[in-house]
Amino acid sequence: MALIVKKFGGSSVATTEKILAVAQRILKDKQPEDKVVIVVSAMGDTTDDLITLAKNITSEPYVYTREIDMLLSTGEQVSIALLAMAFNSLGQPAISLTGPQAGVVSNNVHTKGKIIDVNPKRVLEELDKGKIVVVAGFQGINRLGDVTTLGRGGSDTSAVALAGALKADSCEIFTDVDGVYSADPRVVKNARKMREITYNEMLEMARLGAVVMQPRSVEMGKHFGVPIHVRSTFTQQAGTIIREEYTVEEKEFTIRGVTHDNDVAKIAVLGVPNRPGIAYTIFSALADANIDVDMIVQSIRNSETDIIDMVFTVSTTDLSQAKSIVEKTAQKLEAYGVSVDEDVAKVSVVGAGMFGSPGIAAAMFGALSSSGVNIEVISTSEISISCLIKGSQVKEAVNAIHEKFFPQ
Ligand code: ADP
Ligand code: ASP
Ligand code: MG
Repeated sequence: MALIVKKFGGSSVATTEKILAVAQRILKDKQPEDKVVIVVSAMGDTTDDLITLAKNITSEPYVYTREIDMLLSTGEQVSIALLAMAFNSLGQPAISLTGPQAGVVSNNVHTKGKIIDVNPKRVLEELDKGKIVVVAGFQGINRLGDVTTLGRGGSDTSAVALAGALKADSCEIFTDVDGVYSADPRVVKNARKMREITYNEMLEMARLGAVVMQPRSVEMGKHFGVPIHVRSTFTQQAGTIIREEYTVEEKEFTIRGVTHDNDVAKIAVLGVPNRPGIAYTIFSALADANIDVDMIVQSIRNSETDIIDMVFTVSTTDLSQAKSIVEKTAQKLEAYGVSVDEDVAKVSVVGAGMFGSPGIAAAMFGALSSSGVNIEVISTSEISISCLIKGSQVKEAVNAIHEKFFPQ
């Protein structure tokens, strides 16, 4: 007997035909004694469509984060009900549970909730009755009893957290690609599929834009020691296993992947006096609003007047809130002003083997330079190098860097 958690993403359940096909596939793969928990996302573009509805009501829907969560969590509720009906109609007893009903407890941060606990009592009871349990991804309940959502792509995290709490024998993430590739296969034609990738490298790739897994889900997998199998909904082929260490010999690559992220915007606070406490004032105001800041550069503008510019990036979802916070702070600091640039993107290379290899940065910059791409900001971690570039050049930049590190 195995306890199995499988997650199906939005494109896998985009239509009622696809929902029926998913139910049939699950039943075909299921051994009679298996206990199966299915986590599903909202159908197709439902989450985006719900956000559009909110934007038709107000130009600033993210001011009302509790109501956004109330709205967005309905998407997953539609899929779980339909999938549970599909199973039952095929003769397999099944029950749908919302995130709160499945015991997924989150913190109080609406629209970016973090799972802090999972109490899977009800899930276990239903499994013991011989049912397949279909759980709504992307949602939890906070201490006030309100539904919270877990950030875009959050169903991945629901699945891995449930697998951890249930001590599942396997956790499979079914999606519209057949594994994790060396770059987004929709952007790089020659991207290579990996048989395995470590949690640390996958976490860095996800953090830097590889949307195939939500970063928090990879952290969760590492925390619980749950190997995660990323694979295709539409084929039986083996995909990519995310785990602590490599177990099979693959050709040694210093770089495991090239990622890109269009969901970034650059904010510059111009002409700030260069004195202690400036960075603290700006970034603590953003942190208080739970806004993540990524690349940060402080540049000396004029050594005589001792005036600096502070440049950093935020995600586009946070842009309008970040802009209004930074404008208020800039006024207090008597800065010259604030400028915003949305036509930017971040391209990155990721690989645990790059530590201590100084040639990697040079090779990446060389690839960008030979394709005429200007670098605006650079940031590094032990296992990645990222460059902020013009948004419209992202495709050629990713392809040029990929070709450099994974030549055909
Ligand atoms: P789901 O709806 O199943 O959660 P997502 O759209 O969130 O699917 O994630 C799958 C997508 O991730 C793929 O269609 C692919 O375009 C994208 N992606 C980005 N980077 C990578 C990568 N390195 N490997 C595989 N897929 C990637
Ligand atoms: N439906 C949510 C989203 O579109 C969660 C998910 O798909 O994982 O982001
Ligand atoms: Mg996803």
